Amino acid sequence: MKLSEHQRVFTRNIAKLIVYAYQNGLELTFGEAYRTSEQQLIYLQTGASKTMNSNHLRRLAVDFNVFENGDWIHKWETIKLLGDFWETLHPKNRWGGDWNKDDKKNGFIDSPHFEMNI
Ligand SMILES: [Zn+2]
Repeated sequence: MKLSEHQRVFTRNIAKLIVYAYQNGLELTFGEAYRTSEQQLIYLQTGASKTMNSNHLRRLAVDFNVFENGDWIHKWETIKLLGDFWETLHPKNRWGGDWNKDDKKNGFIDSPHFEMNI
């Protein structure tokens, strides 16, 4: 499958994730989706990212700001609801709150991040 085809599957699944969030009492605003390699290098140098191989560089990742009852939240347990749903939409989907899909809050946590890792 071409990168462009993966990107379109990813975008369609993000639409489903957004609908699911609102159906479950959460609201979202967009953070970053596409990211330039120049910006990625800054994140790597400042410790905000661990890689120069981010799926943001391929238009296959989105960071969301999650709101509950009007408040911007960072609670892993709440956002995990979205991460679990995200991973049901495609076998290559990963949530940044649980990179290795072991249902535990461990390692490098990036709860706002939803990606398709092809
Ligand atoms: Zn991200």
